[in-house]
Amino acid sequence: MVSATDYDKYLAAKAAALIRENFAERGVTNLLVVRWGRKSKRKLGHITPMQSAAFGSIIEINPLLKSLEVPEYVLDYVLMHELTHYFQGFGSNHERKHKHPHKGHIVEKELARHGWEEITEKSEKWIKENWKNVIAKNY
Ligand SMILES: [Zn+2]
Repeated sequence: MVSATDYDKYLAAKAAALIRENFAERGVTNLLVVRWGRKSKRKLGHITPMQSAAFGSIIEINPLLKSLEVPEYVLDYVLMHELTHYFQGFGSNHERKHKHPHKGHIVEKELARHGWEEITEKSEKWIKENWKNVIAKNY
């Protein structure tokens, strides 16, 4: 049986690998925590600074993404989205070059720079078509 601890380790290992593979040259510059948050119908993930962004950042992922019907690439995609906010200075102490975290498709552009165009497209499509079923089963 897969325990809660296994899921925690799984998420932490995934986040570490994604940082290593995509943002190695940027570096983690504060205390970065990646953990499962509360279930939500709308939000798949979010990032918030701790008492100060210089001290730390918390990325929380919707635990409904643990559901077996959710493809692994969707979880990867959600993590990459939140990590992109982190490295673009939203909820973190990285230099912020944009005013708004989503305007001008800056997340999508960053993901494309890392070769994530296809996964982004696939994930958005999957979420559009299937997320409602995940919610229906869990609420
Ligand atoms: Zn976002």
